[in-house]
Amino acid sequence: MLEAIAEIGRDPRTGGYRRFAWSDADMALREWFAGEAAERGMELDEDGNGNQFAWWGTGDDALLIGSHLDSVPDGGAYDGPLGVVSSFAAVDELRAQGHTPKRPIVVGNFADEEGARFGIACAGSQLVTGALSADKALSLKDRDGQTLAEVMTARGRDPRAVGRTDLLDSIGTFVELHVEQGRSLIHSDAAVGVATAIWPHGRWRLDFCGEANHAGATLMEDRHDPMQAYAATVIAARRLATDAGARATFGRLEVEPGGTNAIPSRVRAWLDARAADEGQLDKLVDALMHQARSAADPDGTTVGLTTESVSPAVEFDVPLRDRLASLLDAPVLPTGAGHDAGVLSPHVPTAMLFVRNPTGVSHSPAEFAEDADCQAGVEALTTVVRALS
Ligand SMILES: [Zn+2]
Repeated sequence: MLEAIAEIGRDPRTGGYRRFAWSDADMALREWFAGEAAERGMELDEDGNGNQFAWWGTGDDALLIGSHLDSVPDGGAYDGPLGVVSSFAAVDELRAQGHTPKRPIVVGNFADEEGARFGIACAGSQLVTGALSADKALSLKDRDGQTLAEVMTARGRDPRAVGRTDLLDSIGTFVELHVEQGRSLIHSDAAVGVATAIWPHGRWRLDFCGEANHAGATLMEDRHDPMQAYAATVIAARRLATDAGARATFGRLEVEPGGTNAIPSRVRAWLDARAADEGQLDKLVDALMHQARSAADPDGTTVGLTTESVSPAVEFDVPLRDRLASLLDAPVLPTGAGHDAGVLSPHVPTAMLFVRNPTGVSHSPAEFAEDADCQAGVEALTTVVRALS
């Protein structure tokens, strides 16, 4: 199945994926998902937010498995798709074993998990739970200035259908399988692990403002160059995050006016920060802003902070997690990455299985998992679904 979608949305220069919400690549993946559902005689249901669900059986208290098919810019082949294909593979395996589930089993593909196009991660699942309002979502703009409402309309979807759904009324449990985004399983010498928690994390926009001027005619001491404070902030972010055992990343930058021979008037940078608990995360961002202001003041520049999103800490359902860990004899581990499972977790008992990633690299074309480990993931998911259904 991964081979069948290997070319969809792949950038031939980098080998990475650009599978953004409602793009041509995303539409092709949706079609692929619908085809896999049809092939298995599973009834396909797409909610108003673009989340796809393939049902084996009908009724309440369904067991939801699955993940997402979209990607970050230049993403890898496994983040998201591994969970979806493993879910279909688990259905095949259970049927081959003659298993008759006592509750419906649903394979899901959540829309826009990465937030690569509209800036909000887990938009599809957050709309389902009401954590993200329809009004806010529909007015989000992509980098071309198109709103989600316009983009969905162009794809034949009705923006009026966006918003909270009754999915949670029919789902009793959610288990998301995902490639590990770290090296814990390498250290514990296990192919599969069970998640304990997701760190709180967020996205902030920092606007460093100064004065545009000539790169040649302006004396160094006369400049109000906001790039200087930005650079100092990036260096400080690494030190502060390292000292706190947290994570801080600047991965996106816009420079105005953006001329090689012009001192910038504004540097707009986006911070992604994560920490083991919310107090530590707040402290990290506060300390970083203190450093940013201290760097900006002497240059006569300023820095402003806008919070774009903050996701609270998630502790997965403890009885479910313990049951899975003992069923699979698998280690338990926390993660610094956000997932749809984290969004659903406050509403339904939710668990995550991680599949070993030999390099720990993710959100990169180099993301990888061995075939044997992917197979172990399918077997683990099959065991879990059989035990829970
Ligand atoms: Zn993912």
